[in-house]
Amino acid sequence: MKSMANPESVLKKTIELPYTWAMGEPTAKFLEGLRNKKIFGTKCLKCKRVLVPARKFCPRCFVNTKEWIQVSDQGTLRTYTIVYYSYPGQVKPPPYAIGVVDLEGADTGFSHYVGGVDLSDPAKAAGKIRVGSKYRAVWSRKREGNIFDIEYFTLL
Ligand SMILES: [Zn+2]
Repeated sequence: MKSMANPESVLKKTIELPYTWAMGEPTAKFLEGLRNKKIFGTKCLKCKRVLVPARKFCPRCFVNTKEWIQVSDQGTLRTYTIVYYSYPGQVKPPPYAIGVVDLEGADTGFSHYVGGVDLSDPAKAAGKIRVGSKYRAVWSRKREGNIFDIEYFTLL
């Protein structure tokens, strides 16, 4: 007997996976900062880097961070990509742009949406997002203490 699956006999389902995650003090304080339009990092006292988002320990030195530092909500766009492909689990429907911004006062890149650009034409959109230029956070009007308290970063 052949064991070839008939494509019409395939069952397609979506699995829901609800979960609860204990954030811990650094993430909780970082997100509370966003609610108040402030971006906090933690400083490693060994390598002196300011890590954003705030972390409990420095992943380079393996020592706990001790000092809280507020960094700017502006910085330089290091890189970006535009997502046109749709896949399960996306927070927002494409197209959208995601970039890494080197915030002033931080030593790590901060990943978030890049907005304020018409993304309907990929070639035109790519020319309007500028690596190396200054970008600033656009804060949500209604902030709830999560990463989406920043809607996106836009060209300054
Ligand atoms: Zn360190």
